[in-house]
Amino acid sequence: MDDCIFCKIVSGEIPFFKIYEDDKVLAFEDINPVSKGHTLVIPKRHAQDLWEISDEDLAAVLLASKKIARAIKKILNPIGVACLQLNGRGVNQMVMHYHLHLVPRSPEEPELMFTSWELRHGDMDLIKKTAELIASAI
Ligand SMILES: [Zn+2]
Repeated sequence: MDDCIFCKIVSGEIPFFKIYEDDKVLAFEDINPVSKGHTLVIPKRHAQDLWEISDEDLAAVLLASKKIARAIKKILNPIGVACLQLNGRGVNQMVMHYHLHLVPRSPEEPELMFTSWELRHGDMDLIKKTAELIASAI
């Protein structure tokens, strides 16, 4: 897509710090990192989100993310790596080209804001009804 910043990265129009590339996937450092080693893994073929990405590209992104997470573990020795993927402006997806965030956390870094939510006991009836509704749509 002409106005997609990640498509411009794929085509080489915009410089980036490459981590990994194969025929379907590109991975590079996020230039607004949440932590050291924050990496984005994207399909080369444009797809906006999880609803749009092909099964083939999704599988390739996930398999590549495993290789990259291994390298992050080896090099940065984090105490954990969060895999985060946002779909839609309502959950703050900023670039409308599917991307999986790999966010390592080193011992000296603060807890990641999106991994530190407070647990609250849910409404069991509502949870049950919602589960049944979603399951019925699959
Ligand atoms: Zn794109």
